[in-house]
Amino acid sequence: MNRIMTRPLLAVEELQTYFFTRTKIVKAVDGVSFHLYPGETLGLVGESGSGKSVTGRSILRLVPRPGRIVGGRILFKEQDLLTLSERQMRRIRGGQIAAIPQDPMSALNPAFKIKAQLMDVLRLHRGLNGRTAQQTAIELLARVGIPDPEHTLNQYPHQLSGGMRQRVMITIAFSCEPDLIIADEPTSALDVTTQAQIVKLLFDLQEQFGTALILITHDLGLVSKVCDRVLIMYAGRIMEQAPVTELFQHPANPYTRALMQAIPDLGPRQAKLYSIPGSIADLPPESDRCLFISRCPEKIELCQNKGRPPAIPIGPDHQSACWLHTLPSTQKQEAG
Ligand code: SF4
Repeated sequence: MNRIMTRPLLAVEELQTYFFTRTKIVKAVDGVSFHLYPGETLGLVGESGSGKSVTGRSILRLVPRPGRIVGGRILFKEQDLLTLSERQMRRIRGGQIAAIPQDPMSALNPAFKIKAQLMDVLRLHRGLNGRTAQQTAIELLARVGIPDPEHTLNQYPHQLSGGMRQRVMITIAFSCEPDLIIADEPTSALDVTTQAQIVKLLFDLQEQFGTALILITHDLGLVSKVCDRVLIMYAGRIMEQAPVTELFQHPANPYTRALMQAIPDLGPRQAKLYSIPGSIADLPPESDRCLFISRCPEKIELCQNKGRPPAIPIGPDHQSACWLHTLPSTQKQEAG
């Protein structure tokens, strides 16, 4: 893709989404910036609590209460989604930006048959009605590998297997040929065999439709196979972002390296599987130091007293937020 000729489809700038509880403010997303080009696949990776799902929901403007977007811009086709009315947003959601959730049961209405839910989307976003909508629905279900689409249309969500429900969600997501799909852990509720089928289906369709995709996941192994670029998130901030090959060949941030060590297939051979000690919840709430400091195996003196590290450019399209990058290379080797 020639990026000089192409404008980003999506540019997220300094996004801040906070949750306001009675006793504290949780900065779930705190100053996140990234861009996505048409047709590109971006992996948003991190542990639970890293802010990756809230970032996805912020783009859709579906942040649950008591959360609120408090700062930044979300430019989609150069239009700031944060300035649109809810009515304008409804037209974009499902039409130009679609979502595939982790649990299709939470997105499908259990009280309505698949037919009603799929035809609703086709009517709202493609203006199709009656027989045309039904015929399109049948064709779409067949395209995602549902063996008897007419029968499936007349079933309720609970009558389908988990894999079939996710196929229906994928059908709904692609039915309006959106420019962008946000898939949040789309296979984690499925068994391993079905996971592989759903991943293949998702990326086959993405290629056919030329859709850009944000894949929210904790699975770095999957990201290494399907994504163009990767964003590593920790406690609401981006620790590292880079093209996928660059990230896996030259992981620069200690958190990225720790995540990679925790993948059985990517880490060095070891008797016991590595896990990063501690958890995101260990953070002091208003710490002004690097948020990974309490768990970082590579921390240095500088990390204790220099505040939060900014995103430091360390290669083409490669940034990492870590004070190690400010050291002269001889000192870096000693610190490592
Ligand atoms: S800034 Fe310091 S604590 Fe944070 S990741 Fe880098 S080395 Fe570790």
